[in-house]
Formats: sequence, C-alpha cells, structure tokens
Amino acid sequence: MKALRVPPMYKRIGLCDSDLLDNGTRHPNLVLMKIAGFLFDNNILFELILDPKTDISKYNHIFLSRVFSFTKLPEFYEKTKGTPDENKFHIGGTGFYANITSVSEYKKKRDEDFNRLDNDLYLNTLDNCRGGSKAKGIDMARQMPYYHLYDSYVDKQEKAGFKRDKYKDYQKYSIGFLTRGCVRHCPFCINKLENKVCPYSQLEWFLDNERDSHGNLVRPYIYLWDDNFLASDRTIWEPLLKELMATKRPFQFRQGLDERMLAQSPDGELMAQMLSKSKYHGDFIFAFDNWKDKDLIEKALKIWKHHNSKKTTKFYLFCGFMLSKDNLDKFYKDIWELFQRIRVLMSYECIGYVMRHDDYHKSPLPNIYVQIARWCNQPQFYKKQSFWEYCYRNQTYWEQKNGFVVIHEIKQFEEFHRDYESGYYIREDHRGKTRKINKCVQTVLDMLDMFPEHREELLEMFNYKMSNLRDPKLWEQKII
Ligand code: SF4
Repeated sequence: MKALRVPPMYKRIGLCDSDLLDNGTRHPNLVLMKIAGFLFDNNILFELILDPKTDISKYNHIFLSRVFSFTKLPEFYEKTKGTPDENKFHIGGTGFYANITSVSEYKKKRDEDFNRLDNDLYLNTLDNCRGGSKAKGIDMARQMPYYHLYDSYVDKQEKAGFKRDKYKDYQKYSIGFLTRGCVRHCPFCINKLENKVCPYSQLEWFLDNERDSHGNLVRPYIYLWDDNFLASDRTIWEPLLKELMATKRPFQFRQGLDERMLAQSPDGELMAQMLSKSKYHGDFIFAFDNWKDKDLIEKALKIWKHHNSKKTTKFYLFCGFMLSKDNLDKFYKDIWELFQRIRVLMSYECIGYVMRHDDYHKSPLPNIYVQIARWCNQPQFYKKQSFWEYCYRNQTYWEQKNGFVVIHEIKQFEEFHRDYESGYYIREDHRGKTRKINKCVQTVLDMLDMFPEHREELLEMFNYKMSNLRDPKLWEQKII
C-alpha cells in the first residue's frame, strides 16, 4: 500500500486523532488507520488533520476519535457545535465514555461506540473490499490499516527538529488485535464488563509486507493491542502464538500480558516456555495491578523466571484510583500496596512501571506519585537506588549544579535528618547562599509528617533496594 497524496483543491475526508492534536499520545490510532484503509480501498481522498484550527470547509466528512477522556477536543470541532457543520462529524472512541460511572449508561455508550462504524451511513455506501459477510461498509476486524496515515505527522515533526526515529511506533510496526476481551473485570478498565476473550483479526489481515528499495520490510515489527491474550482458551492462544513466531518478526503485546495466567492456567508452564523461545520485541511486560494478587503473581513469577531468567521483565503497577483529599487511610493503603508490589518485584529482579490513574491528582499528596513514578519508571534509577536515595540524589544534583560543596552524593535518611534538624539546609555558605530542600525530598518529608504513626514503615519502604532484595533462590529451583 503506497502513500497517498491529496491535491489541495479536492474535497476529501478528514481524519482527526484528537489525542495527537492535544499531545496526549505516542501511539497511532488504529481505528483511524482502518478507516483510512477502507477509504483507500474505495479510492476516496482523505488526510490526517494536523492543525486544531484547520478550515473544515475542505472536508465532506470528518471522523474524529478520542481515546482519553482528559483529551481536549480540537477548536475546529468545538466551533461547529450547534451549526450545520456539526453534521460533518462522525465522532467516537473510549474518551467519550470511559469515565462514566453508571454501569448501565457505560454499557449503553460502549455498545454504541463498538457498533458505530458498522452502522455509519456514509461508510455503508462504500464497498467492503476485504471479504467476509459484508458487501458494503467497513469490517473493522478484517480491514487492513493504512500504514502511511501518520507519514505527514512524522514529516512535520522532523521539520520541527525532532528525530524521525522518535516516531517508530508510527512507522515500523504492523498493528492489530488477534483477540479481544478479558475476563478480569477490573473496575478502572474499559473492559470491565467483558466476560470472555475471543479471536478478532487474523494475523494476515493486518500484517504489512511493504518493502523498501533494498527489499527490506518497511515495518519489520508487530505490535498487538490484545486486552488479555493469555486468558483466551489454549485452542486460541497456542496456534496464534505459533503463527506469530513463524513470521520470525519481533512482536510485542503493548498492553502487557496477564502474568497471573501462568499460575492459573494448567498450561502456564507451556506459555512461559513458548514465550521464552519467541522473538519478543523489547521487554516482556505484565501487570501487577492489585496487591491481593500477590500469591498468584509470586507463583507465576517462579514459573516465568525459571524459563526466562535472563529476560528483562517489567510489570505495570496501577495506582492512584478513586482517591480523595480527605481519605488519608485509603491514600496510605494505596502507597503501601504500591511499595509492597515493588518489594516483590525487586526480589524477583523485575522492573516496575507505575501507571497512575488520573484520580491521583485528588489524593492528599499527589506529588508522591509523581516522584515514585520518576524513580520507578526509569530502570537506571530503580535498579541501583532506593526511592530515598533517588530523592536525595536529586537534592545533591541540584546542590552541585548551584555551586555548593557536596561531600556525599547520597546520605542515608537518618544522617540527612540530623543535618536537617541542625539547620544545615538553611545555613548560608561562604557565598552567602543557602541550600534549599528540593521538591523530591520535601515530598518525602511531607509524607512522613502526614503519617507520623507510620514513619518507621514508610522509611523502610523508601529504602527498598533491588541489590538487597534480589533473591535468585526464589526462581532457580524447578517448580513442582
Ligand atoms: S486484566 Fe487488563 S484488560 Fe482485563 S480488565 Fe483488567 S486491566 Fe482490563
């Protein structure tokens, strides 16, 4: 599929990735890429809209997608509300309903959103060129994405001085869902009402085979958006995994894999073995979202690490959900559970990646989440330093940059606290300047002040360190 160029005088279809226009994503929008593929099949002119203030008179129709509910909608859309031009818009995406709390309302909106493009009056006037039971209209599972949709965006970013390589996600991957659905019902997730995992697209329906002038694949990698691949039946996941491996292309499940399935499924050992032999792209990513899953995760980790001891394994750590300013107990529990999960991961030599729900802003001390994420989400810090050491190193980094003499780049908390109490950080040096406490360390102090009854426990958690906690005996023995 070659790139399409639209002569400026022609009317066309506009495709709007609202999250991109609001700087909210680094992932291409697969739905828009499929709509683009469908229009391309029908020889209809289209383009990705890159200007939030664009003149929409050149568009017959505009397909506007929003994935995140916090994304601001573009000005050109807001301005048409209540005018005849509003009818040009076909809007959809999880960002229009993800934060609805009423279950019935949520279900209604999600069902509508899922079927919106199937029922789209304009798309249903065009041919489905991809086979299956539909003669007219788009078949989302079968539709081949148009992989050049974001070329104009990448070109624009390059002209603005960014490296093209930064936008690999838009250029180097075949993208799709092999399965859809989940069985876990996590309350914060858009899949909370799903009950099963079903096959969705066949790999060949989205696998791109375009080659460059040297005969190399333009998109040598595959990334998959499956919600919970390993929770599908073995008759589904095993042949799909074999098919992926047979492509010899590195692949990656972008939403992570469900580690608990290794412990819960009778085929857990087989899953770990097959994944250990696959050409996986980047780190293996799982999720450890709930502390109550600790026993399951540990059982799964023993299986996983036994077969994958050399592979970097990362876990998403969800936190910050449903917090409020006045519920201190809930906030403390959330932070406590986050550190306990980190402790388990460190003992198995795994990396954490903090995923904050937007509710963290409403917590009594939002900045503690920011600082923990900055530490945890940068493996070079997480692997070598405790949270406290990271915070204090930020302090001395600032001191060094501002010309203060630093004898020890890292101080243990007790030593820091003795100096703090003695006025070391507000005393003037020979230049008449005073050190100040940076935001990282101040946040630790604020947390300790907020929970004096948990001071010892907090300090213990802030000092969790991988080199002290790592214990290979946990996974070296064969699991019985
Ligand atoms: S396991 Fe993942 S995909 Fe499934 S409901 Fe929970 S967060 Fe969503």
